[in-house]
Amino acid sequence: MRAQASDVIVVGGGIMGSSTAFFLAQRGLSVTLLERDLVGRHASGVNYGGVRRQGRPLYQLPLANRASAIWRRANTLLEAEVEYLQSGHMRVCYRGSDRDAAAMEQYAIDAKEYGLNLEYLEAPELQARFPFLGPEVMAGSLSMEDGHANPRLVAPAFARAAGRLGARVEENIRIVAVEKVADDFRVESADQRQFRAPVLVLATGAWAGELTAQFGEPVPMTSWGPTMAVTEPVSYGIKPSLGVYTAVAKESVYCRQIPRGNIIFGGGYKAPGYPTTGHTRVRPQNTLAQLEEIRRLVPEMGQLNIIRVWSGTEGYMPDGQPVAGPSERVSGLFYAFGFSGSGFQIGPGVGETLAELIATGATPIDLSHYKLSRFSFA
Ligand SMILES: Cc1cc2nc3c(=O)[nH]c(=O)nc-3n(C[C@H](O)[C@H](O)[C@H](O)COP(=O)(O)OP(=O)(O)OC[C@H]3O[C@@H](n4cnc5c(N)ncnc54)[C@H](O)[C@@H]3O)c2cc1C
Repeated sequence: MRAQASDVIVVGGGIMGSSTAFFLAQRGLSVTLLERDLVGRHASGVNYGGVRRQGRPLYQLPLANRASAIWRRANTLLEAEVEYLQSGHMRVCYRGSDRDAAAMEQYAIDAKEYGLNLEYLEAPELQARFPFLGPEVMAGSLSMEDGHANPRLVAPAFARAAGRLGARVEENIRIVAVEKVADDFRVESADQRQFRAPVLVLATGAWAGELTAQFGEPVPMTSWGPTMAVTEPVSYGIKPSLGVYTAVAKESVYCRQIPRGNIIFGGGYKAPGYPTTGHTRVRPQNTLAQLEEIRRLVPEMGQLNIIRVWSGTEGYMPDGQPVAGPSERVSGLFYAFGFSGSGFQIGPGVGETLAELIATGATPIDLSHYKLSRFSFA
């Protein structure tokens, strides 16, 4: 069977792969996007929907800022509603955690030169402006230039927009073999369909190691599933997305309310991921622990019914930071995986940056922090 040819093959239709495909197609390259299940079926489609920059390492802010600019024009760019709401994002910490408050305040100072404007607030002003916060909340760091979006809509919107620009988007196709022969990558699916291109992007989330190993680049990734839930709808009052800044895993919950009224919340303990089945389940004890903590953050949430819980399969690197950029071993091979629970916001920025790098050979974004070789055995 003849291999189908294009300029670039992108494997994985999460937010990384679909946004990369879109920006490549926008630059006039022919692209084939191959997704094993449905586009946005995994982490990219089931995450919390937090579009936040604060809390990221400072070196990641240029990438996050680039993504932020894309989020603001996403509906126009993609000709689709992705429910991005720039209603703010606030990290808070509790009484007794003075070190966390000091770290949060310092971050607000340091982030300024990276273009992230944070307002540091203390009680009682904090409670006056955000009366739904619990009495234990003593400090907050607010970014009014961030917010949240509906994850279910975003990766499919990128893939559809890529398709309109001429990209070939294939779902339900599992890639099992990848190799480089002379100047081309040969990619083969489980049903023995073949594709070839001089450039290959592996954006395969928690499953990345299966294909990178075929290029002699193993990935030290583990898989975990953050615990998520959504309440019944109530009147819209919590505008910023909120998160507790703490080193205590149980306390680290977050929530956001959508204008329809439902409050989505997550954080706290995670469940082990099951990449083999792709069905990472919620552990009931994690949800119960979350309920205790979410009441500390927003006491009135203790009155609400939960209508659904879920999780998703996410790949975590040992240092919590992704691998993104060119392979250091194989020319023409690019990686984007291991986003460790915080890839949704930066996803479009990663896609635009990889597309720029592939199309022009350069990008102003410093990708040196995201090399696989930072792990000694890579
Ligand atoms: C429950 C949860 C909550 C989260 N909350 C947030 C948040 O609020 N904010 C934030 O910034 N981030 C959040 N994240 C993290 C974020 O969702 C991920 O970092 C991001 O979606 C990763 O995107 P991706 O494209 O790399 O991976 P994925 O979305 O997993 O996409 C990878 C795709 O590759 C496909 N694939 C894998 N192997 C193959 C193969 N061999 N052949 C073909 N296709 C293949 C998979 O089927 C999958 O669709 C959360 C994650 C989870 C799970």
